[in-house]
Amino acid sequence: MYWEKDIETMPRDRIETLQSGLLRDTVRLAALSPFYGKKFRDFGIDPAGFDGLRSKEKLPFTTKDDLREHWPYGFLAVSRDELVRMHSSSGTTGRATVVFHTAHDIGQWTNLVARCMYMAGVRKGDVFQNIMTYGLFTGGLGFHYGAERIGALVIPAGAGNSKRQIQLMRDFDTTVIHIIPSYALHLYSFFEEMNLLPSRDTRVRIAFIGAEPHSERTRKKIEELYGFKAFNSYGLSEMNGPGVAFECPEQNGLHIWEDNFLAEIVDPDTLKPVADGSEGELVLTSLRRTGMPLLRYRTKDLTRIITGDCPCGRTHRRIERITGRTDDMLIIKGVNIFPIQIEKKLMEIPGVGNDFLIVLEREGYNDRMTVKVEVGQDFFDGDVLHLEKLRRRITEDLRSDILITPQVELMAPNSLPKTEGKAVRVVDNRKE
Ligand code: ADP
Ligand code: ZN
Repeated sequence: MYWEKDIETMPRDRIETLQSGLLRDTVRLAALSPFYGKKFRDFGIDPAGFDGLRSKEKLPFTTKDDLREHWPYGFLAVSRDELVRMHSSSGTTGRATVVFHTAHDIGQWTNLVARCMYMAGVRKGDVFQNIMTYGLFTGGLGFHYGAERIGALVIPAGAGNSKRQIQLMRDFDTTVIHIIPSYALHLYSFFEEMNLLPSRDTRVRIAFIGAEPHSERTRKKIEELYGFKAFNSYGLSEMNGPGVAFECPEQNGLHIWEDNFLAEIVDPDTLKPVADGSEGELVLTSLRRTGMPLLRYRTKDLTRIITGDCPCGRTHRRIERITGRTDDMLIIKGVNIFPIQIEKKLMEIPGVGNDFLIVLEREGYNDRMTVKVEVGQDFFDGDVLHLEKLRRRITEDLRSDILITPQVELMAPNSLPKTEGKAVRVVDNRKE
């Protein structure tokens, strides 16, 4: 059940000793890059004298803007001919950032993804259909290499082309898939259209879902619709991509692989560490990357450490599923709202379908929030009162949660625009 038992179940004191040594090496290596070379001089950090974990808070933070400003090569710690691969972020919040890898880095990353997939139960003999965009996005090749390392048969299906995905699953007896959660919900409507039931008409037993925030309720919904287990996969291109933190079979939080990443949770305003168990921004340091090491990278992702031991026996600390990105936060009529709050509430309401969209407008000095919600086709075929009742219920439930009253528009199934990548949840027309 373990890919690397000694590492996955390493006692905490040994993990910390290991991290300390790796952090020292990483600081020395990072000093060779133009960005950190200068930062260390400005901060008065002597890389040769850096003494490891206990001094971690002396290190500077790194932000996405730093990566953008030193684009493209300002973070390289090796010469360019050592590099074998480039990836980039999806550009969800602006210009995409690029990350470069040496052959060593790709090897490490591959091993981590294999560890994650093995932990969820993937074995040699499995057929793995990777329903993710290939190319610069890390979700495609990251999982592809990991699955091959385990010895599974990989179908590099890529994203989109829904009917063909279903055909591939059926023709080649796919047992494991990797898919963006919003797309998994959309794909289900094609099963319905083809009069197929995933649990009866495919052999898929494991799914990896990630790359975008989703609630526990959405995971449950995907599991129920498909009849498989769906494991939450967290990663970001700046820390390779997938394989940073991952759910084990207990599905009670995501183990962060602490032999590869140093994780801190800080208050996003003061940048001071928060107590274990409190929510804050996840900050990550790569501990084994050679091409482009990153120190104290501010992910902008909000989560908390789950305290206590995991029954699976792994000793790497767990984080809660990501509750939002600090830059996803909407301020509407002065109230702070995360799109995931809306998703969570909607998914609890019977009759609500698989997709929603938040549209923001300005009317004079006021913000207007409209939530467009897909609901079951039967609501449109039946009684108008029935539809109105559902609309009121949704409005009321959202109001009691977010404390402002949105306009709710009910939409037919599949009528909202779909993407093959991360779902677009908000259209903000308030900015001129
Ligand atoms: P971008 O930062 O442009 O979206 P990436 O493709 O590198 O580009 O995406 C990484 C980000 O995606 C993470 O920082 C996080 O916000 C989000 N993300 C990835 N996996 C998950 C997950 N399992 N749950 C919630 N959010 C996730
Ligand atoms: Zn566990």
